[in-house]
Amino acid sequence: MAHIFCIANQKGGVGKTTTTVNLAAGLAKVGQRVLMVDLDPQGNATMGSGVDKRQLAHTVYDVLLETATVREARVRADKLAAAGFAYDVLGANRELAGAEVELVDVDRREKRLKAALAEVDGEYDFVLIDCPPSLSMLTLNGLCSAHGVIVPMQCEYFALEGLTDLVNTIKQVHANLNRDLKIIGLLRVMFDPRITLQQQVSEQLKSHFGDKVFNTVIPRNVRLAEAPSYGLPGVVFDPSARGSQAFVAFAQEMVARNQAL
Ligand code: ADP
Ligand code: MG
Repeated sequence: MAHIFCIANQKGGVGKTTTTVNLAAGLAKVGQRVLMVDLDPQGNATMGSGVDKRQLAHTVYDVLLETATVREARVRADKLAAAGFAYDVLGANRELAGAEVELVDVDRREKRLKAALAEVDGEYDFVLIDCPPSLSMLTLNGLCSAHGVIVPMQCEYFALEGLTDLVNTIKQVHANLNRDLKIIGLLRVMFDPRITLQQQVSEQLKSHFGDKVFNTVIPRNVRLAEAPSYGLPGVVFDPSARGSQAFVAFAQEMVARNQAL
């Protein structure tokens, strides 16, 4: 059975996509079978995995509207295969923005992705879902499909405030739609230990959320920001970069945690 996790935070620019593609690559690197699902119409996770969103015959949009299955719509991130490992991509592009409206009147609209993923459950160890920066029907489909949520966050002053909305949404989805859903953990990203405020917020997070805060910390590292312009996750683009090594360590932490479950 696959572990299905959403990477979510309703704030934009907090590192969701970077976390999704690098965790996917890190997990693949340590031998896990991974499907990455892009649920953001921007398609950044698709492009950042070396898959051209404009060339896709089918995307997650078709899967949500049930005009294609996951098996039909997924592609192999071949560009990564040169590194010796790869993962599968259920891609997205702008078309996905229309799904919000088109799903309004359909049955079990928030469970479309969950139903579709059941088909490939045995084929993966991990399914990672990159969510858009909103608590929309798309994000709801992600949350209904998942066993848990990974929340990337920057250790900034307003970080905790934004978390309250997300935690409440997760509680509501848990109560009404998906009994399996829980917060797997908070991932500190773009971390700069020289900034005192970041250290303070990091300590606050740990005292507030305890072992829900992942041990691994992702540093601010320009190589991670450069990698998408080459259509590669940082883990593949520059394996020796500190940020890439942190994501491989995070992948190992995820594997260890899930073996313990
Ligand atoms: P989101 O998906 O939440 O909108 P992104 O993953 O796209 O966020 O990240 C926002 C920006 O920050 C991107 O330009 C990305 O390259 C950059 N970024 C993300 N993580 C890091 C990091 N650890 N170090 C440096 N830049 C980062
Ligand atoms: Mg994103």
